Amino acid sequence: MPISKKSRIQREHKAADKAGTRAPVKANGLPVKAPKPTSICANCRKEMVSSNLKQLEVHAETHDQKNWPKEKCWPVEFPSAA
Ligand SMILES: [Zn+2]
Repeated sequence: MPISKKSRIQREHKAADKAGTRAPVKANGLPVKAPKPTSICANCRKEMVSSNLKQLEVHAETHDQKNWPKEKCWPVEFPSAA
C-alpha cells in the first residue's frame, strides 16, 4: 500500500527539520506566505503595507494636509527633503 499524503508530508517535515530548512506550512501542507512588511502611520498609528507607496500617500491625504504631509506620516517611505 502506498504511503498516504499525510505521512509523506510528515516525512518531508521531519527531513526538513533535520536539515533546518523547514518553512512554515499550513495544516494542509501549503507554505505560509511571509507577512508583508508594514509601517505604522505616525499620526493615527494605522498599520499599512509599506511597499504600497500610493496607498500610503492616499492615506496621508486623509489627515490635515498642512500639519501632516505624507513625509510626517511615513518618514521612512517619504523622507523629507529638508
Ligand atoms: Zn494616518
